[in-house]
Amino acid sequence: MTANIIDGKAFAATVREKVTGHVARLKEENGITPGLAVVLVGEDPASQVYVRSKGKQTVETGMNSYEYKMDADTSEADLLAVVEKLNNDPEVHGILVQLPLPGHLNEDLIINSIDPAKDVDGFHISNVGLLGTGQKSMVPCTPLGCLMMLRDYHGSLSGMNAVVIGRSNIVGKPMAQLLLGDSCTVTIAHSRTKDLPEVVRGADIVVAAVGRPEMVPGDWIREGATVIDVGINRIERDGKNKLVGDVDFESASKVAGAITPVPGGVGPMTIACLLANTVTACCRANGLAEPE
Ligand code: NDP
Repeated sequence: MTANIIDGKAFAATVREKVTGHVARLKEENGITPGLAVVLVGEDPASQVYVRSKGKQTVETGMNSYEYKMDADTSEADLLAVVEKLNNDPEVHGILVQLPLPGHLNEDLIINSIDPAKDVDGFHISNVGLLGTGQKSMVPCTPLGCLMMLRDYHGSLSGMNAVVIGRSNIVGKPMAQLLLGDSCTVTIAHSRTKDLPEVVRGADIVVAAVGRPEMVPGDWIREGATVIDVGINRIERDGKNKLVGDVDFESASKVAGAITPVPGGVGPMTIACLLANTVTACCRANGLAEPE
């Protein structure tokens, strides 16, 4: 059996197209241009790449992009002041503080200082609580992108067994909440899970968000299962730098029914969902109907 490839790159392009259409309508009919502000503290190379890519795609969809680059030794007070300024700026509908922050900054404090209505990453404690109680919230972009691909592939997820490997606040936990919201039976696995291979073998849907290159081999996957690989790991192979996921694509794609590749799977969907969340935040802020 050879798995169907879930093409996140192509799907993300359709999401961006819709976003571009909404942005054009907001401008034409309401005279509003959605704006996304991204704050980057320090010079983490991976974060710089993400921030550049976010800024570029924001502009390509017709939105305003605001970038705040701050030194690695920025004080908490200075960063809080920038967030406060953006909270009060009516031109800014979405605020994203790029994580991870340098160690001297309290991430929880900073994230919770963002106006929840502008928290397009969905990490503010209010949004986490709203998601956990099934209320309207800003939904974290990576799990949202995974859910969209799963819904697109399966239609209904109701009654399916889903195993999420990883329990981080930014991927694993919100992913589990979203799958529960779609009536999956959800297991959250982590580094202390006993007999992980057996747990994963029980899954109709496997979401791997671990951060360990190719950790999940094909013989952990139930035949025909759907595999969503969130991992982005840089490795060196045959003298070349390579990006690989948390799933061993080669063996897993021989047993899975469908699988996301790395790159070209979850990654592009994450940024597309960030853009979609910014439009949603803009519509909510202006009392306008939200895009579906
Ligand atoms: P974290 O490091 O915050 O969390 C990793 C999770 O994996 C933890 O819950 C940890 O368990 C669990 N884990 C670690 N080792 C094992 C193991 N041997 N067996 C089972 N579980 C294990 O990572 P993130 O959630 O932030 O990211 C996960 C991956 O997703 C990374 O590769 C990251 O680069 C990628 N990522 C990709 C994005 C995208 O846009 N595609 C966006 C965000 C992340 P415990 O809690 O017990 O320590």
